[in-house]
Amino acid sequence: MLMFMNDLRAKLHELVNGEVDDTDEIRELCSHDASLFELKPQVVVYPNDNEDVKKVVQFVASNKKANPDIYITARSAGTDMSGAAIGESITMDFTKHFNKVLEVSANEAHVQPGMFYRNFEPETLKYNALMPSFPASRELCTVGGMVANNAGGEMSLRYGKVLDYVNELKVIFADGNEYTVKPLTKAELDKKIAGGGYEGEIYRQIFELVDKHYDKIKAAKPHVSKNSTGYNLWDIWDREKGIFDLTKGIVGSQGTLGLITDINFRLIPKEPFSGVLVCFMKNMDNLGDIINAVLTKHPTSFESFDNYTLNLSIKFFPYFRYNLGWGGLTKLAIKLIPDALILLKGIPKLILLIEFTGQTQEDVTAKVKDMKSLLKQFKMEAMEEDDSEAKSWKFRIMRRESFNLLRKKVKDKHTAPFIDDLVVPPVYLPKFLPQLREIINRYKLMATVAGHMGDGNFHIIPLMKIEQESERAKLEPVMKEVNDLVIKYGGSLSGEHNDGLIRGPWLEQMYGSEMVGYFKELKTIFDPDNIFNPHIKVTSDWKFSMSHIREHF
Ligand SMILES: Cc1cc2nc3c(=O)[nH]c(=O)nc-3n(C[C@H](O)[C@H](O)[C@H](O)COP(=O)(O)OP(=O)(O)OC[C@H]3O[C@@H](n4cnc5c(N)ncnc54)[C@H](O)[C@@H]3O)c2cc1C
Repeated sequence: MLMFMNDLRAKLHELVNGEVDDTDEIRELCSHDASLFELKPQVVVYPNDNEDVKKVVQFVASNKKANPDIYITARSAGTDMSGAAIGESITMDFTKHFNKVLEVSANEAHVQPGMFYRNFEPETLKYNALMPSFPASRELCTVGGMVANNAGGEMSLRYGKVLDYVNELKVIFADGNEYTVKPLTKAELDKKIAGGGYEGEIYRQIFELVDKHYDKIKAAKPHVSKNSTGYNLWDIWDREKGIFDLTKGIVGSQGTLGLITDINFRLIPKEPFSGVLVCFMKNMDNLGDIINAVLTKHPTSFESFDNYTLNLSIKFFPYFRYNLGWGGLTKLAIKLIPDALILLKGIPKLILLIEFTGQTQEDVTAKVKDMKSLLKQFKMEAMEEDDSEAKSWKFRIMRRESFNLLRKKVKDKHTAPFIDDLVVPPVYLPKFLPQLREIINRYKLMATVAGHMGDGNFHIIPLMKIEQESERAKLEPVMKEVNDLVIKYGGSLSGEHNDGLIRGPWLEQMYGSEMVGYFKELKTIFDPDNIFNPHIKVTSDWKFSMSHIREHF
């Protein structure tokens, strides 16, 4: 077996047209994503085309029994925060050759998974169209990673998540063949099952699973506006509509069910006008009530970031040069500094960004004014911003870049995403938030808070000296307490960042063993030999995860 593993690069090199790299530099680069973990691959493959992907899958499938440690980890931009884009065997990087947009119209876009969202959006905007569920990492991530994580972002409050925008996928299953996955009527499903073969058998088994346990599976769907925890079993089969849609199972599966080679997105028209109300809160006492009040007016987005982020943004001002260029930076400096001086007199604890979009500027302005008068009762400083692009973009950039600033600029501590993506129905936030804060303070975590307020989706990123044993020892008890609290209020452990190495082991706490059993059945149907990303989601193990906490920074 050792012989085989030593020879892996050579064997893969013979097999594929794309590059195969096992240099220390590349293995080191691919051993990290944006999570707490590190797993160093033996080899990194850059498939040139679908045939390359198929060949590698067939190679792994046929050698797995004799070499149980061999497996494939799909990787796109590697910005995953849960530890799902790293592995110790073969990492397959889609960014080098699978990075083209194939076709775009006003209604849909056909694109390869390794294309960066920052390159994709300009293509759709040519048709005044948008895939609106882009994450805050929009400048860093790819569309494939967005699909595999079921990403969400600032506009998810109004438009939903990536799951709602996938028309069709091409996926390489564990037998090494490519299949088109799209919604099917019951008659089409029956035909596929009757056709038999590998594909027919997969459809037969999954239909049996979701139909047999229909009510239990539907009841397990978390009652939150966004969820990336577990597999979306509840969305696959809709008896009332008679639609069986396997894309719903593959979106959010983090490369554990198959490899995505092609994506067809539904697009929506971009609304031409937008306006933002920026609110500065000196304390968080009324936060829950404020959120509930804002939601009655159905904003397009409702985002926030805290005083740590604001201070960091001001301190590390030149950082924004990378996004804005020198000209943009100067503009930002001129615009931000007067605001910052006013603000810092009474340092706001939290900044809220409430955005409305519409067909006319008058409509948007009226909505912003209406919101401002609604919020007067909470006695916070509020600034009206009529034109979001021209006036509030500095705040948007701070929000989008908040996690990145922490990752890159705080030198003596490290970002530790482990309670980074919880979601609680907003109605419970007045009770939930003080209890959450109590846990954070009791464990002496220095944590920044930013996120998607309107969804009750909070990104809490402690800064820790994670190399110290005493700090690592906090992870398990804090997760246990915070998860218990989230579950008590009917929330979800992850709204968008997904399970990976960090939350996979906690799925049973959230869903119970019966439901996790159904998740495991789905994984086994697709991937009986565990060749795709075996250490995450339902096949994860807390001890394994903890033994791979990052040591190199
Ligand atoms: C600064 C920052 C801010 C972030 N903000 C958000 C946010 O607002 N919302 C949000 O949802 N996430 C956020 N994230 C997390 C992450 O950026 C997103 O989930 C993103 O969509 C991941 O894309 P990626 O290209 O980096 O994927 P990767 O990290 O490369 O991979 C993510 C997952 O997709 C799988 N995968 C990749 N390609 C394929 C493929 N071709 N086939 C099958 N599986 C595949 C990988 O195995 C892995 O499980 C943030 C991360 C950072 C660093």
